[in-house]
Amino acid sequence: MSAESGVPTFRDAQTGLWQRYSPEQLATEQAFRANPSMVWTWYVWRALLINSVAPNAGHRVIGSWQEALTADGGSLTVATQNVDDLHERGGAEEVLHLHGSLHDYRCLECGAPAAFDPSSTTVSAEQHFDKDSVLEPARCTQCSGMLRPGVIWFGEMLPQTTFDAAVEALRAADLVVVVGTSGLMQPAASLPLIAQESGAKLVEINPVPTDLSDVADVYLSATAAVALPALLGELLS
Ligand code: ZN
Repeated sequence: MSAESGVPTFRDAQTGLWQRYSPEQLATEQAFRANPSMVWTWYVWRALLINSVAPNAGHRVIGSWQEALTADGGSLTVATQNVDDLHERGGAEEVLHLHGSLHDYRCLECGAPAAFDPSSTTVSAEQHFDKDSVLEPARCTQCSGMLRPGVIWFGEMLPQTTFDAAVEALRAADLVVVVGTSGLMQPAASLPLIAQESGAKLVEINPVPTDLSDVADVYLSATAAVALPALLGELLS
């Protein structure tokens, strides 16, 4: 969804200095505790990168589609594995972030939610590639523990309430459109099949075929920013 806005996918996010590390080496609590400034700097760099890009036509169409359906007495639920806020900035409301959000922070020790503005750091996204510019994690105002990003790290459970809300929406859905996921990360990857078992039609949009392509009712080999506006245009006409 966000690749066309210039946000590297999680697997492709390792550029520059970060090429030396796999996501598994950075996106765990163990990695954060072992090297807080490096992992914190990686997340600040990613948050700054997301702040510097805009929602694409795909995000904006989902916002419009949700608005149109809601005005018509229906509903559209957005559930995403993306940790950016481009759906919200594209006009979608009540986005279910299955893998958490890069823009929410909380204390690693006491769990208190905390505010942090990555743009308040004194180094630019580019300077983060310079190992001399690594940042120290911001601190909790309650207990002075380190703040951590509100994303789901490897080995952590998905947020149960969010996951349950996604399952409920899928069970009740008439139509499910799966956009651009690799379909590799469980349990999110199994969600479309729940909808199909409940009788929903399944449309997959992905420039690259996945394990889902054969079981989807319709597979559109295209990117989100191309296929979604075309799909909504057809539906509204
Ligand atoms: Zn704390």
